[in-house]
Amino acid sequence: MIIDELVGFSNLYGSNEELVLAGGGNTSAKDGDVMYIKGSGTRLSDITAEGFVKMSRSKIAEIFTKTYPDNDKEREALSLKDLMDAKLPGQEKKRPSVETTLHSLFPQRFVLHLHPSLINGVTCSENGKNATKQLFGDDVLWIDPCKPGYTLAKICYDTLREYKNSKGRDADIVLLANHGIFVADDTVEGLGDKLYSVMSKIRGEVTEEPDFSVGDFDGDKAQEIFNVISEVFGEDSVVTYEPSVISLKYSKDKESVKEIYYPFNPDQVVYCKPYPVYIENKEEIKNFVEEYKEKNGFLPKILLVKDCGVYGVDYSQKGSETAVALFNDAMKIAVFAKDFGGAKPMSDDLTDFIVNWEAESYRSKQ
Ligand SMILES: [Zn+2]
Repeated sequence: MIIDELVGFSNLYGSNEELVLAGGGNTSAKDGDVMYIKGSGTRLSDITAEGFVKMSRSKIAEIFTKTYPDNDKEREALSLKDLMDAKLPGQEKKRPSVETTLHSLFPQRFVLHLHPSLINGVTCSENGKNATKQLFGDDVLWIDPCKPGYTLAKICYDTLREYKNSKGRDADIVLLANHGIFVADDTVEGLGDKLYSVMSKIRGEVTEEPDFSVGDFDGDKAQEIFNVISEVFGEDSVVTYEPSVISLKYSKDKESVKEIYYPFNPDQVVYCKPYPVYIENKEEIKNFVEEYKEKNGFLPKILLVKDCGVYGVDYSQKGSETAVALFNDAMKIAVFAKDFGGAKPMSDDLTDFIVNWEAESYRSKQ
């Protein structure tokens, strides 16, 4: 059964932390007019057949024949409504992944979409586009940074059609700038082969590995900082602390923080909030956190502290750990990107769009 194959490879890739963190990534399969797509809020690592939403492919295709308003909110709301209307009967209570329309663009039976840090070392780099061309020639399609949701789907729709017209075949590997990778194939084995061939080529270019071992941190200061953070965020807060070599390096001084300050991809915005707070001594914490909230309208989830490393704060164990995991991912990307001209964060416009994007905030609430 196609659904068994889909569940199988979703669980396989979803349990590999080099490939998937938190609710990131999604998968799909097509059978005639039916597309099975990962439901929003599910995780690839433990998704079952029930976690997939059955959609009508022909109804999703209608979205690309329509014209939507330029206004971000109206366009996203209307196209999302059309996507919801493409669910098949019996699926009313489920919500398909926000990336469903992208999956529908590939005619291949199976599609795998991931945000691995190694691949994002290229997609979030200054030379990402050229490096992709050099490493993969015409085999991998590159998509420039753009707003997620309908805008990204429409750009991919046009680019994939252009590719087919000029090459006489369908594209099957796509790199999305500041986002991740799409791989499509008619067989599950083919998906894996393509993903790993891209990863091994990138691996061959990378000369530095991020160091997550425990570094030389100030234990007394770290404990004091931990206590003040718990106090400032309140008794319901959960703090996750990691004095890794790499986080100590990026929190060394104000100059080093700049390399990691701006977010590289949407997952980071969703799970860590867009910017960390940099702290040099415990007296700064209360004021800096209040200023951050005043400016952004929400609390930070990541604090980088000089001589201590990274602290993740949220109001659940899972939220706090996930924030640190995603921030670790950002630091990995920054290291990998050094071999591709250095890291390139998202633009402020794009970051603001994602902060306000309803569909994304729905995802982080799950
Ligand atoms: Zn994605």
